[in-house]
Amino acid sequence: MAASIHPSVDHGVKGGSAGFSGGKLHCKCATDKVEVTLTSQTAHNHVCGCTKCWKPAGATFSMVAVVPRDHLSVTAHAEKLKPVDPSAAIVRHACTGCGVHMYGRIENTGHPFFGLDFVHTELSNESGWSPPEFAAFVSSIIESGYPPSKMGDVRGRLTELSLTPYDCLSPPLMDAIATHVAKQNGKLAAA
Ligand SMILES: [Zn+2]
Ligand SMILES: [Zn+2]
Repeated sequence: MAASIHPSVDHGVKGGSAGFSGGKLHCKCATDKVEVTLTSQTAHNHVCGCTKCWKPAGATFSMVAVVPRDHLSVTAHAEKLKPVDPSAAIVRHACTGCGVHMYGRIENTGHPFFGLDFVHTELSNESGWSPPEFAAFVSSIIESGYPPSKMGDVRGRLTELSLTPYDCLSPPLMDAIATHVAKQNGKLAAA
């Protein structure tokens, strides 16, 4: 049996829709659901093995993408949201009813990804969102108790799904972070 990654990709990765321009995310409460409205397609969608991202019960990885923060608004039951850790680099806002993280926001204007919010498009009923493109922080699933002896199976399954496994972020995103740092410390000219 193939190693389980996340319910949204275990039966194959579905492509996005050209021209898709956003939709609504809902938490898992039975009533009074928190609603977040996105007015943009997502980017850099990926599965993530870190211990901080929200994932559905039983999933080995989370699935997380970004949108520009000015394309995200909480449109219902904002009163139910609470920051998981206000001091974290990415402040994840979770529903106090069901625990789902509705969005993660970077408040530090010097952070390489400032201006982007992190979202889980599996919380939407719409299809057409950008599909996951790679797997980040794969080794970190061990920190959640995943057996180290099964990592070969996990990396094999990710490769089979065309979700190239990385133990940090993907090379383009690592390059973007390093470029940001180099511009901040004067090693590269600011754009
Ligand atoms: Zn909820
Ligand atoms: Zn993560």
